[in-house]
Amino acid sequence: MVSNRRRGFIIVRCPYCSNLSIAKISYRSRSCSFCGRRFTISQATIVKYADDARMASEIVRSLKKRLRV
Ligand SMILES: [Zn+2]
Repeated sequence: MVSNRRRGFIIVRCPYCSNLSIAKISYRSRSCSFCGRRFTISQATIVKYADDARMASEIVRSLKKRLRV
């Protein structure tokens, strides 16, 4: 099974504008880089887990590409 979850990153969806943001898994809240509003991680939808920042940004890039119609 996956270990070190606590040291990883999550990709969260902003509850206000649906923008995807990267947050450390230990964070309790995050400011959206798109709309600037602050939300707690528990309010946001966790889309994916990633082991490190690079992997997280790769995931965001591919998700955004997929969402673009
Ligand atoms: Zn937002």
